[in-house]
Amino acid sequence: MPYIKSTFYSGLAWLLAGVLSSCSIIGKGRLHSEYGDRPGAAGFKTVVLDAGHGGRDSGARANGIYEKNVCLDLVKRMEKDLSRDFNVVLVRDDDTFVPLDDRVKKASRYGDAVLVSVHFNHGRRRLAGPETFYWRSDSYSLAKRIQKNLNDATVSKSGNRGLVRRRLRLTRNPQIPCVLLEAGYLTSAREAKAIKNEGYREKLARGIANAIRDQAAFGDQGMGTIPPPIYMPPSKASDPRGSL
Ligand SMILES: [Zn+2]
Repeated sequence: MPYIKSTFYSGLAWLLAGVLSSCSIIGKGRLHSEYGDRPGAAGFKTVVLDAGHGGRDSGARANGIYEKNVCLDLVKRMEKDLSRDFNVVLVRDDDTFVPLDDRVKKASRYGDAVLVSVHFNHGRRRLAGPETFYWRSDSYSLAKRIQKNLNDATVSKSGNRGLVRRRLRLTRNPQIPCVLLEAGYLTSAREAKAIKNEGYREKLARGIANAIRDQAAFGDQGMGTIPPPIYMPPSKASDPRGSL
């Protein structure tokens, strides 16, 4: 009798756990997680694309290019490409300013999704090549794929040096896997010249889109050792520059 009773209760507990977890899937989404301390995203249906800056915030300005404009251009090219396979959501689809925390909130509304934030870099004139930032373990392989494809597509190479773990508002705070990329330096004469070319921007966009597609299909497969999670509070505007 005690045996039957315990199996009955453990059965009930499992049933309850199943109901609760399916509720959380419906309520919050399969890929929702505070710290991203899980395997890499796979099988997602929605891609949230964030064109950096916008409106009064032009981002970097160099060599006659406004960062906000080329970010939006790239995101629209990616949307066109990815719409064949995914539900694509744009954080902004015109020249408007969206505060960072609102971008985070918008992305976190989607449960079965990843967020990719698109930027271009600025710095000393010699600096060149793509950079891709991630923080969460569940975002590492997506970042690695994006960095690889960007590196293959760009005129200046940065290789794995460009893959950087950094706690930013758009790599730590969303509740879904998220990556922020810098598709090249506007301050590099060579890269700026290339970025002004439509075919080059199309090539960059296709590289990123293919990385997202591969991530959905293969998850962490073939991506090597996944870095363990780091449990840190959300990133804030007041955090000191250069802090982890
Ligand atoms: Zn930017």
